[in-house]
Amino acid sequence: MTPQVACRFCAAGLTCEACDCGDQPLANSLVSMDAPDVPDPRFPLRVMVCSACLLVQLEQAADPGAMFTEYSYMSSVSAFWRDHTARFSAMAVDRFGLTAESLVMEVGSNDGTLLGAFAGRGIPILGIDPAANVTAEARRRGVPTLTAFFGERTATELAAGGRQADLLVANNVLAHAPALMDFVRGFARALKPAGVLSIEVPHVLAMLKGAQFDTIYHEHVFYFSALVLRKVLAAVGLAVFDVETLPTHGGSLRLLAQHAGTGQRPATPALDQVIKAEIDAGLHRPESYRILADAAARVVGGLRAFLDQARADGAVVAAYGAAAKGTMLLNAAGADSETIVFVADASPLKQGYRMPGCRIPIVAPDRLKAVRPDFLLVLPWNIADEIMEATRFIGAWSGQFVIPSPVLRVIAA
Ligand SMILES: [Zn+2]
Repeated sequence: MTPQVACRFCAAGLTCEACDCGDQPLANSLVSMDAPDVPDPRFPLRVMVCSACLLVQLEQAADPGAMFTEYSYMSSVSAFWRDHTARFSAMAVDRFGLTAESLVMEVGSNDGTLLGAFAGRGIPILGIDPAANVTAEARRRGVPTLTAFFGERTATELAAGGRQADLLVANNVLAHAPALMDFVRGFARALKPAGVLSIEVPHVLAMLKGAQFDTIYHEHVFYFSALVLRKVLAAVGLAVFDVETLPTHGGSLRLLAQHAGTGQRPATPALDQVIKAEIDAGLHRPESYRILADAAARVVGGLRAFLDQARADGAVVAAYGAAAKGTMLLNAAGADSETIVFVADASPLKQGYRMPGCRIPIVAPDRLKAVRPDFLLVLPWNIADEIMEATRFIGAWSGQFVIPSPVLRVIAA
């Protein structure tokens, strides 16, 4: 990894720091049980704000080729996501008038959960994702999927083969694409003249307000506002005509865009309203983003103090959710397998591995009943309610939940 000295959008020098998270392991690079007993590689994790265009981005980002060719997250595992995708497909078919003659394309289609919802409504679909294991699963489930990195070249090849989208969906992928401009040029190429682009990204405003410091990791290169994303899309001829704020990932933006020259949908007032909220919060000033560093210090300090106390009391602490934000928080707080016995996770793809850096083992949720921990640390706070509901049984032995962010709370089960 080499430090990026110029903004990935406007090429101005990156000199303004929002938060320095120190040296951290790659958050999604799970470690096998028989890996040699040597420290996992760590890389500097520093969030910068471009003083010229306000794009929030990492100074050093992980190479997507090393990360996404084998991916350990399957969309279908989360009941919340299945529900989210069902609502989205119903809305989109209705609002954009999709028919059996249309094509819905999804970039970062994972195991095909979202596209499957469109196929169920009789709409032709095509997925694109670089991870061979999840695309194989998607095809097994009957979702046509291309195993490829998305960008201008892939989109141009698809267009040459007569495949362009009436609806192009890119949910939670844009923030992970270091070659931002190649990616958005791909959007413009992949979209039919009257097509609609739907993008979902975590909203940097929610991140700042909610002290979501653990959403910072090397695979998450960009932290977007509507203010900036509108400019990025405009640079490739795409015009945002609607925006919605969503509760997903602790607060996300869904932007709808079309070709500036040929799109036909009128702009709604929502974009101006969201941008006004961003400006009211100071997102138009680079120095506003420094509150991230204060949030990080508070959340990490709170968890560290809790783990020290638990150890002093001889309490058994387990965690739930082997996702990237868990890796970040556990490593930043200096947790290890002495302080946290294991991380439970429902995904069979993660069980039997260890968390990067801190090397805490990942096990099936069943283990909770055998070990009966005093505390269950819920790492993915964005789906904390779903996790607490599924593990309410820890109340049988007076186990308690611990929610680390934005301020650590202990909740009876
Ligand atoms: Zn810039």
